Amino acid sequence: MLYLSTRGHPDRKRFCEILLEGLAPDGGLYLPEAYPQVDAATLTRWRSVLAEQGYAALAFEVLSLYIDDIPADDLKALCAKTYTAEVFGTKEIVPLTKLEEGLQLEALSNGPTLAFKDMAMQLLGNLFEYELARRGEQLNILGATSGDTGSAAEYAMRGKQGVRVFMLSPHGRMSPFQQAQMFSLMDENIHNIAVEGVFDDCQDIVKAVSNDLDFKRQYKIGTVNSINWARLLAQVVYYFAGYFYATTSNDQKVSFCVPSGNFGNVCAGHVARQMGLPIDRLIVATNENDVLDEFFRTGTYRVRGSADTYETSSPSMDISKASNFERFVFDLLGRDAARTKRLFDDELRLHGRFDLGADPLFAQAATKYGFASGKSTHTNRLATIRATFEQQGVMIDTHTADGVKVARELRRPGEQIVVLETALPIKFAETIREALGRDPVRPARFDGIESLPKRVQVMAADVEAVKRYIRERCPQV
Ligand SMILES: *Cc1c(COP(=O)(O)O)cnc(C)c1O
Repeated sequence: MLYLSTRGHPDRKRFCEILLEGLAPDGGLYLPEAYPQVDAATLTRWRSVLAEQGYAALAFEVLSLYIDDIPADDLKALCAKTYTAEVFGTKEIVPLTKLEEGLQLEALSNGPTLAFKDMAMQLLGNLFEYELARRGEQLNILGATSGDTGSAAEYAMRGKQGVRVFMLSPHGRMSPFQQAQMFSLMDENIHNIAVEGVFDDCQDIVKAVSNDLDFKRQYKIGTVNSINWARLLAQVVYYFAGYFYATTSNDQKVSFCVPSGNFGNVCAGHVARQMGLPIDRLIVATNENDVLDEFFRTGTYRVRGSADTYETSSPSMDISKASNFERFVFDLLGRDAARTKRLFDDELRLHGRFDLGADPLFAQAATKYGFASGKSTHTNRLATIRATFEQQGVMIDTHTADGVKVARELRRPGEQIVVLETALPIKFAETIREALGRDPVRPARFDGIESLPKRVQVMAADVEAVKRYIRERCPQV
């Protein structure tokens, strides 16, 4: 299996080469040269692998199609070590809950930080440790987070040999619970930096530092942003698991509705569908930051400025551009790398937008690739949290509520929709109180977390200051 860049760089790389990297050298994103195809016999076999041997064994089956530079026994052991009931709360790892006729929730947020990002990040932590030890190398992970990525990364990497984490987050914009989760970590190898700006300022700093190739090489800078291919790949597994849990035979179809921000989660669904998983529709649910909904409705992809990026009650979806979206556009354009490069490099840089609405290929987003989209606002979110609690007795978080709202709105008669539950309500207590007039359920292990001592450095949105901070904390390399 070889990986290419969406912008046409001639190099081809293997999995472990791109594991520790972010963007491709030309600024593109990595994708496999072709998606491995899963035929009917394999689907049938995987259904029983999941039923008889569990999620970790299914993960090994999926991952081994994409990873051929880790010995099979080692990869199997890494999967087994990652996807345990101890870490993810249940034997099923991603159990389904029925909400109503045609609508189920897939639980992806019972890992250490109570958000779906643990699903990929816990694996990444183990893959990084494995690969760094094999190479005898060290890595400094520089990341940007609007909340869930950061804590998931830190909980995956804490105490790991050879890894330091420098995590940038928008100062004061995360929920108190999220801040407490991240900033209360006292591990030597974890560094929290609160940037005075929005999430995209943080992401821009990460990009700027990573584009300084000398600095990047000297300080062994790596990333765990959602553009990391290994993260996306780990997420592909739970589309298969969710499908098997939701169906009894492989001639049934299931749609997934995905609360979306950077398009990482739903892009994994796209990959699963391209592999041959019988997914009917991939429904993208956005909040007020509706960059993606606008694209799937009109064909216009229009990046928002900082000033037009709203601070919402589903903050992990507060994005001005969707950093994984280029992967899908590359496929939509028939894998035309030159055109992808023109759109994302030239047009976006010059005009902040591109428009595929008039291109016949755009219609294929729905017809060939199964995409649909919808949007949810604060008012919708509150109403959905309330209705779901009162009618189904299920308390959902604000992001999941955006998914449930859009799924209810777009569901066709007879359609089976699995909504991905991306976080637990306790992470967004303020909005839960606003919706339900009561506190969310708090797992006992998080009692009193907000009053723990915090370890965080507040900093201006300044690339040089961040570099200086990293230099001061790394032994000369
Ligand atoms: C990250 C996140 C999302 C958005 O996922 P993307 O992969 O960026 O589309 C949605 N909900 C929650 C709770 C998240 O943490």
